[in-house]
Amino acid sequence: MNVSIRGCDSYDETLLYNQIKKNIEDLGGLDKYFEVGQTILLKVNLLMKRRPEEATTTHPSFVKALAKHLVDFGLKVIIGDSPGGPYNKSALAGIYKVCGYEDLVNDHISLNQNFGSFTSACDQALLMKQIETIDVINDVDHVVSVSKLKTHGMTLFTGAVKNMYGTIPGLKKAEYHYTLPSIDDFSNMLVDVCLNAKPTLSFMDAVVGMEGAGPSSGEPRQIGLVIASNSPYYLDVVACKIVGIDPQDVPTIKRCYERKIILEENLKVVGESVEDYYISDFKIPSIKGVGLLENRVPKWLNNMVDYVIKPRPEVMSTCIGCGECARCCPAKVIEMVDDRPDIHLSECIRCFCCQELCPAKAINIYRHPIGKIMMKI
Ligand code: SF4
Ligand code: SF4
Repeated sequence: MNVSIRGCDSYDETLLYNQIKKNIEDLGGLDKYFEVGQTILLKVNLLMKRRPEEATTTHPSFVKALAKHLVDFGLKVIIGDSPGGPYNKSALAGIYKVCGYEDLVNDHISLNQNFGSFTSACDQALLMKQIETIDVINDVDHVVSVSKLKTHGMTLFTGAVKNMYGTIPGLKKAEYHYTLPSIDDFSNMLVDVCLNAKPTLSFMDAVVGMEGAGPSSGEPRQIGLVIASNSPYYLDVVACKIVGIDPQDVPTIKRCYERKIILEENLKVVGESVEDYYISDFKIPSIKGVGLLENRVPKWLNNMVDYVIKPRPEVMSTCIGCGECARCCPAKVIEMVDDRPDIHLSECIRCFCCQELCPAKAINIYRHPIGKIMMKI
């Protein structure tokens, strides 16, 4: 499996177009994957209403440059995602607007307006034999993942594979989270969902990524790359190496190695080299302690050490009382009391959806000082 990395130090549209062209050439050209006249879903990351410069969502200039290549080849493009909250016309209209996607529309490029879903079997899945998926997948011939390189409080890293979680409709994602709260099961489920969505190609906006408290409360970080691959699994391995994350520390990637979806000997980096873009001081959240004791010790012991070892969400003074965290919490353990979230930690599954979807970046992932020492942070 080939992973193409190409330098691209800004969102200048001509530069993006030229560097993505090199990605495509590195992977053998579009005619290797698509036929003229086909329709492609660009499955972007539109997590929430955030402006492009906040580096939470796939930058519209990246999507525009990639879509232009596809259209020039003779393809039709639908751009879509099912973000964290409700999956409907009004919710997506606001997200398309704030994320800067409205201007991408022309005769060949549209923004997804099909908000239905269907359930189907996935033979390759380990856990999810039936998966509910957004209908737009049925409207296209191929899916192309267009992710953003970011850190993540639960899964450490979010890239091409986790981007496919947005093929699950709206609040169904929270249900899957709640059904599979352990990090092992959750990451296997993410891999199942990616196998089900079957992206033909995967591109990653790594011009500016997010470090620290990703995927939405971190800081933008210049990386200066456009990355592409014919495998989302291998793409994530290379992206992690660039920002100094050991791929084996990322639960989704570890599951892929265990399930023989990734074989190290099959990885081939083309274009430019990882070493030339390696970032030694990328701020990476620690997920040590998340799920550490699950299924390994009796529940009474788990509860005893839970308070000290496990990271937990805490509400900061910047909270605006919007209630979004309570609405999105899969475990329904957040109660709004006097316009302030009260988190019942004993039932919290540490998914950090509340942090991910808080519009005010008002949820911190807190670690007890003793827990930090124990986890050797
Ligand atoms: S913590 Fe965030 S999501 Fe929750 S009520 Fe406060 S501002 Fe809203
Ligand atoms: S409180 Fe936050 S971390 Fe805990 S289950 Fe709810 S969304 Fe997940």
